[in-house]
This record gives sequence, structure tokens and C-alpha cells, in this order.
Amino acid sequence: MTRYFTILLISMGLLATGASNSASAKPPTVVVSVAPVRALVAAVMQGIAEPTLLLRPGASPHDYRMRPSEARMLENAALVIWVGPELEGFLVKPITVLGASAQVLTLLDDPSITVLSGRSGGIWGAGETHSESRDPHIWLRPANAARILETVAATLGKLDPENRPRYHMNAARAVLEVGALEAEIGDLLAPVRDMPYIVFHDAYQYFEKTFRLNAKGALAVDPGRPPGARRLRELKQRIAAEQIGCVFREPDFKPATLAAVIEGTGAQIAELDPMGQVSGNLQAYASLIRNLARNLKSCLAP
Ligand SMILES: [Zn+2]
Repeated sequence: MTRYFTILLISMGLLATGASNSASAKPPTVVVSVAPVRALVAAVMQGIAEPTLLLRPGASPHDYRMRPSEARMLENAALVIWVGPELEGFLVKPITVLGASAQVLTLLDDPSITVLSGRSGGIWGAGETHSESRDPHIWLRPANAARILETVAATLGKLDPENRPRYHMNAARAVLEVGALEAEIGDLLAPVRDMPYIVFHDAYQYFEKTFRLNAKGALAVDPGRPPGARRLRELKQRIAAEQIGCVFREPDFKPATLAAVIEGTGAQIAELDPMGQVSGNLQAYASLIRNLARNLKSCLAP
């Protein structure tokens, strides 16, 4: 009798330990470099945990300086997700130092994601120019967002097998929503497809190609540096000569010189934000894409 009870208690104990393990297994700590990718990762992790955004709100990844507190965030992560050296140059060294402590997912190296070559010279006449670098603004192609969702789900599923079905289910649902979003935006932008415009920096190639838009150039040749006086003079001539209706600035770049560039040309200034909100999940990604489309359309529509 005593023996029977002992065995029973031991097996109950084992069951209890097993049960508490599966209930309390902590999902991995995930750090994501930039806001649009964070939104996609948050969609995959929905109902499980929240990923942490590395970059401060409003900061550009092209010329970022990391704080010590942000370096510690990286050290404590189980998974770091970034686009790649062409976008977050500041992360190249810290990621090498991370070594074995964290898994790193470099999206630009993922074979399922369509990666375009970088354009040079502010994209004027980009048909003739070649660049060996990769254009890192991959999330602005909705089909790439779908591949990011899937690759993130696969990576998280390996790190956290217990939540694997949930990651995959979340990703599958989000992929469908991204497909619907792409169709919606295609319809919205169809009437302004041929209208010429210029942007602040050459971040929108993926968006332009997806929706077959008519971007003519970028103000800044180097996204880390505002255009100089000579380039601004040249731009003004081009805006007039090519009858460009809209010049799009970005939230972190609102130079007074821009007014002088369009003066007397008939062009208008409007804004495009390639990064979007710093919180939220798939809705934050959808808002980023919708806002780009709406801002383009409201300026370009005749
Ligand atoms: Zn950029």
C-alpha cells in the first residue's frame, strides 16, 4: 500500500513538473532593429510575447549610433533580427561580437526574399547605372513582407518548439492579410501610376516596382547626408524640365532649402515615411504601406 502511494506520488510529481515546464517555458527574447520589421515579427509572436525594437523612434538606421543600454539589449537577446549591413551598418561589429550568445537572422541573406541591386546617383537615369550593393529597403515590397513573416516563424519555431504551431498559424494568417493589402494598394495607386515625382532618399524601389510607379529621382545621393547647394540647384532644373508634380520629404528631413528647390516649378512638397510606427503588429505594417500610398496619391492625383 505504502509502496503504491509512493509510486503514485512520484508519478504525480513528474506530471506536475512536466506540466509546469510546458506552461512556464519562457518564449525567446527577440530584438528587432527597425520598426517595419518589428511590426512583422510582432505579428508572428502575437499572443506569445512582444519583440523589442532596437532603434529609437524617428532615428534613421543609415547613420545610427547605439547607446550602451541598446548594446545591453542585444547582449540579452536570444534572437536578433536585422535587415543587413547595407541598412544597419552600426550593427555589423556588435553582431560579430555577439558570437554564440544569440542567434542572428539577417534578412538580406534569406534566399526567399527578393533583393534588388542598389541604384546610384540619386536614381536619375538609373537604367544605365550599376551598383553591386543590395538595396536594403526590402519590407516595402509586400511579397517580401510575406516571406519575412514565414522565415521569422520558421526561426522562432526552432528556438521555441512549444509555440511552433502558434508562430506558423500567426504567420499564415498575416501572409493572407498582406496579399489582400497588396491588391488594395494596387487598385488605389493605379490612377497615378504615370505621374512623375521625386523622393528624399532612394528607399522606395521595392514599392515602385510592385505598384509600377514613375519615380524620377532622389534628393539625397547618400541617405546619411542632406543634398548640397549644387545638387539642389540641379534638382530644381530637373523638376522644371521633367514637369515633376511632387517632391516627397521624410519625417526626419524637413530642410528649409526644399522650399527654394520647388519655388517657381509648380511642384508641391509632401511627405513619405518609409519606417512607420514603432508599436503594433500587422496593422502597423499595413498602416505604413497605406500611408505611403495615400500620401503619394493625394499629391500626385491631378
Ligand atoms: Zn533608407
